[in-house]
Amino acid sequence: MEEQQVRAVMEEAMEIGRRQIPHGAVATYIPELGKARKDALGLCIALPDGTLYKAGDTNIRFTIQSISKVISLCKALELRGAEEVFVHVGMEPSGEAFNSIVELDLQANRPFNPMINSGAIAVESTIIDYVSFEDMLAYSQLLCDDPGITLNRQVYHSEMNSCDRNRAIAYLLKSKEIITANVDNSIELYTKLCSLNVTAESLANFALLLANGGIRPNTGERLLAEDTVRTVLSIMLTCGMYDGSGRFAVEVGVPTKSGVGGGLMASVYGKCGIGIFGPSLDKKGNCIAGCEMMKQLSSKLGLHLF
Ligand code: GLU
Repeated sequence: MEEQQVRAVMEEAMEIGRRQIPHGAVATYIPELGKARKDALGLCIALPDGTLYKAGDTNIRFTIQSISKVISLCKALELRGAEEVFVHVGMEPSGEAFNSIVELDLQANRPFNPMINSGAIAVESTIIDYVSFEDMLAYSQLLCDDPGITLNRQVYHSEMNSCDRNRAIAYLLKSKEIITANVDNSIELYTKLCSLNVTAESLANFALLLANGGIRPNTGERLLAEDTVRTVLSIMLTCGMYDGSGRFAVEVGVPTKSGVGGGLMASVYGKCGIGIFGPSLDKKGNCIAGCEMMKQLSSKLGLHLF
């Protein structure tokens, strides 16, 4: 990718993104998230040769929210293996909202996939006896190549006071014997992982690690097994954008995961990692600017998988 071309496309994408911001809204169901600056917008692209392209608010810290589901899935696959993990969770798109509970109760004997809340709680239950929150924090710092990641205590406490629905999901999972872990401990770990403070740059680094097959490009160190990366990226492509995943796969064609804190992480296999921050969300809970920006980047830089 030519530097000048990339910079020009990024500027254009930022413009397109900015125009979307007024049409979305900052998440308020976790009260602390409602304090985010709605007009913040950052875009970071990380290349395997170490080049980092940045535009806008790439160093503002915000909570990772659902993107932590990718980190938990990586850890669970590495520690417990795919066979064990997929006893507790499926790998099918749900077509339902991220915090949906009804279809889990009525139709399924396990959550549809690891990218929705029920699925992430189930995935985390496979590792909860083996890792502490501190281990997962260090793991997140490693995968994102960002030692500055910390727990955002305000967001954590705010969500703990407003997470009845997730608690209900965990109890339902327990009643169906999908998880055996204590519900309080599961919710604490899940919520703490959602409350890690990252930046668009950290997300670009993590996306680049996945795009590079699990090897950190600047050190040559393998951090994730090839199988883990293949599984994680496939699930991001089919399930990473909530119930907007199908359309996003068609229009953008890049494995991507979003979070209600405004983060978006996209991994272009063999090419680059992209991190976006924009807390104004569309109705499905995806960064409204980020979705349009990804369309633009995909078409102008030829990033679509197919
Ligand atoms: N912590 C959020 C929740 O459980 C994460 C949701 C998201 O980013 O999709 O509701």
